Amino acid sequence: ASTWASVKMGPPDAILGITEAFKKDQYEQKINLGVGAYRDDAGLPVVLPSVIEAEERLLKSCLDKEYAGITGISNFTKLAADLAYGEESIVLKEDRLAVTQTISGTGALRIGGEFLKKFHPSTKILLPQPSWANHAAVFRSSGLQPETYRYYNKETIGLDFEGLIEDLKNAEDGTAVLLHACAHNPTGVDPTPDQWKQISEVVKAKGHFPFFDMAYQGFASGSIERDAFAVRYFVEQGHQIALCQSFAKNMGLYGERVGAFSLVAESSEEKARIESQFKILVRPLYSNPPIHGARIASTILGDAQLKAQWLAEVKTMADRMITMRQLLKDNLEALGSTQNWDHVTSQIGMFCYTGLSGEQVDELAQKWSVYCTRDGRISIAGITSGNVKRLAQAIHEVSK
Ligand code: PLP
Repeated sequence: ASTWASVKMGPPDAILGITEAFKKDQYEQKINLGVGAYRDDAGLPVVLPSVIEAEERLLKSCLDKEYAGITGISNFTKLAADLAYGEESIVLKEDRLAVTQTISGTGALRIGGEFLKKFHPSTKILLPQPSWANHAAVFRSSGLQPETYRYYNKETIGLDFEGLIEDLKNAEDGTAVLLHACAHNPTGVDPTPDQWKQISEVVKAKGHFPFFDMAYQGFASGSIERDAFAVRYFVEQGHQIALCQSFAKNMGLYGERVGAFSLVAESSEEKARIESQFKILVRPLYSNPPIHGARIASTILGDAQLKAQWLAEVKTMADRMITMRQLLKDNLEALGSTQNWDHVTSQIGMFCYTGLSGEQVDELAQKWSVYCTRDGRISIAGITSGNVKRLAQAIHEVSK
């Protein structure tokens, strides 16, 4: 028998299954709302002009391809930290932020999970219910036990704030809690600034460990500052947070795998100890991170003019999604839908929880060639001014 005869077929990835079904569909006006990447109004992937410019500059400067350090390109990690925490942040001024470059946001989560497992007393991490599908797997692979706290209220298609606070209060003191910094995936539902303040208070009172995942900075509202509100507020309140950053969405650098993981330390001396342990974690995993994407990001972030251009491009992407939300809602209302679609525009980011059931999603695919995940999540990036009318009609027909 083969050495691998006992290896069982694993279950297919839910999102990839949608892509497969979409590809097979012969209908010309089919719509794919499963994609987790930005598309322009023609439905095409985008390489930002600021990224092209940065790549041209890099090519001209004829850099070598030597290895980066274990924790990455230091100019990149510095600029990434400035972007997230704000250049004026006290933790940066006092040189007490431990940072490492990571394999995009997923790699940041994994390094964070490994660090917690090794050095934090909490054996579990609380995830919002629901959360990004990969969170539980990442933390389980790091040896932590993922559990959940209430987050989404099906009835209101909004935040279950009371449930969230109650679950954080009832959790054992000192538990690690994963928080989506902005543009919660998959629901698109974020706490308000005032609710963040209350979450901060509970987290502090319970001695919980706030672990932020920020995969969409700037991409949610169009403003880097606004999307960083929760992270910066927690830091101001004296929390020693963990932060995962990804440049996949906001720079469109998906496949380049550009990210960072950081921990707020109490002192510069403590920061040095933490960074020494980042190296010990990273070295046997992948030795050191890839350089090209990090060079692109640091070229953009390190040049005032190019950074300004990029910020405008981020805003253009965010604005297109905000416009598509509005158009979808307007079209549903124009068709005479009697349902309340306010959540389509009150939610933020690339994803929208429509409130459609699994059966309604099946009907969308079968009758309308409209594809999305069975939890009713649609990717706003898949909507264009050319397909929004037909999409609204399809959603209206299956939800009547
Ligand atoms: N965290 C969340 C909430 C996400 O939605 C994603 C990507 O979809 C990621 C992290 C990580 O993405 P990447 O590893 O491509 O940066």
